[in-house]
Amino acid sequence: MRLSRAFLPTLKETPAEAQIVSHRLMLRAGMIRQTAAGIYAWLPLGWRALQKVEQIVREEQDRAGAQEILMPTIQSADLWRQSGRYDAYGPEMLRIRDRHDREMLFGPTNEEVVTEIFRQFAKSYRDLPRNLYHIQWKFRDEVRPRFGVMRGREFLMKDAYSFDLTKEGAEHSYRQMFLAYLRTFARMGLKAIPMRADTGPIGGDLSHEFIILAETGESQVFVSQDLLDMDPLAEAPDYDADLAAAVGRWTSHYAATDEMHDPVAWEKLEASKRVSARGIEVGHIFYFGTKYSKPMELTVQAADGSTVHPEMGSYGIGVSRLVGAIIEANHDEAGIKWPDAVAPFRAAVLNLKNGDAACDALCDTIYRALGDEAVYDDRADRAGVKFADADLMGHPWQVIVGPRGAAANRVELKRRMTGERHEVSPEDALAKIKG
Ligand code: ATP
Ligand code: MG
Repeated sequence: MRLSRAFLPTLKETPAEAQIVSHRLMLRAGMIRQTAAGIYAWLPLGWRALQKVEQIVREEQDRAGAQEILMPTIQSADLWRQSGRYDAYGPEMLRIRDRHDREMLFGPTNEEVVTEIFRQFAKSYRDLPRNLYHIQWKFRDEVRPRFGVMRGREFLMKDAYSFDLTKEGAEHSYRQMFLAYLRTFARMGLKAIPMRADTGPIGGDLSHEFIILAETGESQVFVSQDLLDMDPLAEAPDYDADLAAAVGRWTSHYAATDEMHDPVAWEKLEASKRVSARGIEVGHIFYFGTKYSKPMELTVQAADGSTVHPEMGSYGIGVSRLVGAIIEANHDEAGIKWPDAVAPFRAAVLNLKNGDAACDALCDTIYRALGDEAVYDDRADRAGVKFADADLMGHPWQVIVGPRGAAANRVELKRRMTGERHEVSPEDALAKIKG
């Protein structure tokens, strides 16, 4: 993308309404624009970051055996009456009437719709287990939308739903998602800690929130240093391994949000290992048994001929919230420092002297070799503006091309994450960036 033609409305001033750094940087870097309270348009830079995050989520869901579908945003109130949640959900639900005066709603979550879809398909135990997910916009009329995309009213969520014949089967599905989540967040360069969450009337210990530590997080969390020291990619084995043992390695350490905090157990932990901090919830997994299959009359025939209600679980990831969370975890005074895996662009080519024949030619060559993954700052601006914008937008690599270097076929290569700069040949720069 050539910056001279790009739609990248960066801001010089820090927007007054933004209270946390990720919100400020997303506005300043021209990633998003608010169109109504808690509702955002995603501009090219933000949209690309969102798609990168979404793609990692998708790959790890697929790898864990879940299948992608796409359910609508608009749902019928009748389905929610069947589950008994229509009245219970409260003012967070956006209720709509169509022209025939039928009650509809903008989906805040999809248990009812997916149960209804599955009900029409599943007849026998052979149709189980299945795990269906989609990545779709949700609406929740939050009392206090804030912090930009972190707590929006309209937001993008990945939600998966598992159907199993037995509780043991559902536990297995739960563990698959548990491990998929560890991988997903680790691939984005985040350390998300699974913490026991409230299971409500269902009881048991099969609900976890995945939380990343950040000063601006909305939850208070208590976690053992041992857990923070674990490596999610090394400790998340493949799906044919012993999943119960793998999950057990994560759940045997202390980790809780304030709702689940147990001060007595906490005090037993060595003082030097007690970390109390703020956290951002990026995912939530939940086993809820027959909570929906029973009232909605989803049944299948078991092998012995008896009729059973499938055991279900649901598994959410805040895809749009993650973009903010990643920035909370990766930034400095000058701007964003994208981890490679989720960077909207891999590299920026900075032409420090537009119109200089050698600079223009070399920049063109490098830009073309990098293709769609690069931005080319070919604007007629001062070098200082280009440096500032590249740092603000946070591309992992910057290729800086000045007239003296270009004449000698040399460029400067800057790594945004570390600030390291090296003078190299254009070929070496390309190899590093692509490597
Ligand atoms: P929270 O406790 O933050 O309100 P929740 O428990 O209501 O979230 P879930 O129903 O578990 O959320 O939704 C799954 C995921 O969707 C959450 O883990 C979170 O990452 C994301 N999410 C929930 N609400 C919002 C929101 N208002 N804006 C952005 N992301 C959200
Ligand atoms: Mg939750």
